[in-house]
Amino acid sequence: MNVLVTGGMGYIGSHTCIQMIQAGMTPIILDNLYNSKNTVLDRIEKVAGVRPKFIEGDIRDKDLLTSALKDNAIESVIHFAGLKAVGESVEKPLEYYDNNVNGTLVLVDAMREAGVKTLVFSSSATVYGDPASVPITEDFPTSATNPYGRSKLMVEECLTDFQKANSDWSITLLRYFNPVGSHPSGELGEDPQGIPNNLMPFVSQVAVGRREFLSVFGSDYPTKDGTGVRDYIHVMDLSDGHVAALEKVGNKSGLHIYNLGTGNGYSVLEMVKAFEAASGKPVPYKLVERRAGDIAECWADPSKAINDLGWKAERTLNEMTEDTWRWQSNNPDGYPG
Ligand code: NAD
Ligand code: UDP
Repeated sequence: MNVLVTGGMGYIGSHTCIQMIQAGMTPIILDNLYNSKNTVLDRIEKVAGVRPKFIEGDIRDKDLLTSALKDNAIESVIHFAGLKAVGESVEKPLEYYDNNVNGTLVLVDAMREAGVKTLVFSSSATVYGDPASVPITEDFPTSATNPYGRSKLMVEECLTDFQKANSDWSITLLRYFNPVGSHPSGELGEDPQGIPNNLMPFVSQVAVGRREFLSVFGSDYPTKDGTGVRDYIHVMDLSDGHVAALEKVGNKSGLHIYNLGTGNGYSVLEMVKAFEAASGKPVPYKLVERRAGDIAECWADPSKAINDLGWKAERTLNEMTEDTWRWQSNNPDGYPG
């Protein structure tokens, strides 16, 4: 199966390409390299034994997309491309709506023109806003508190309307919880530019000596130890979830919505301890004020994906932290180039 992978040079996309190759699929990557490097391709080739075809370009370029879909006999699309930093989205809302919302509309328009009717979209648990309770099931109400989250919600709504009007399409919305970890080879991982916004990249940069200490945002939440609790999922499990979605519902018309999470919640301090154990390095931290817009706790009920997709997150917290450390210590400055 030839699959166009938008954003396939990024963190989740690159790992998914490897799992797709292993499952016998052919990923064709389209990425504008805004937040990734060319050398990711070398690493995919090294690990998977195949160098995917790479088209450098932007999802907002409809002519490029239409020809990429037609020329490569694409049967389905996994759509990762977009901007993802919450704080930046508050400063630059137009860029977020343009890349994430407009970009998706252009992609779907090109798919329509090329006759490609299967789409898997990267959504996020952020669409649940501040959930009334945990664990979260797919029928919980949705809301947004910042432009990034709103862009994900808008795309979900646009795709829902579009699928209603085009009932022969298969559209899958995958709501990721907190992706962490790296390929176990240590060749691929998360390579944030500048100061990391997310917990695990920050922790690993402290452990490797690139940053002095971690600021723990809030220690007075109504949680087990006062710090925020999240559902961290290994990026390899998340990648397998995309393969399962394509295999199980990619050929079934309809709108399919799945939480991709483990169903377990860990606190910030539990993550720090686990990382110290895996790396053998101290991770100094300071308890500071809550970060604006953060919620106390969030974890998934993953039953629907388990039942329908036959997929379950299996990697342990130890694997998440050990694999992160292997990537970070082998590549302290991220990808070369
Ligand atoms: P990433 O930034 O590592 O990867 C995104 C890729 O898309 C990058 O390689 C970037 O160069 C490319 N890109 C961005 N805008 C583009 C455009 N207009 N045209 C072509 N390429 C473009 O991010 P990631 O962590 O791999 O996330 C992938 C997707 O998953 C994103 O849509 C993100 O919003 C979503 N998601 C991520 C997380 C997370 O914590 N990482 C959580 C939930 C959802
Ligand atoms: N967090 C933290 N310090 C950091 C980054 C994150 O204490 O430098 C906390 C954050 O408050 C939250 C958890 O770690 O409780 C996960 O945050 P992240 O930004 O990784 O994910 P999200 O907020 O999207 O769930």
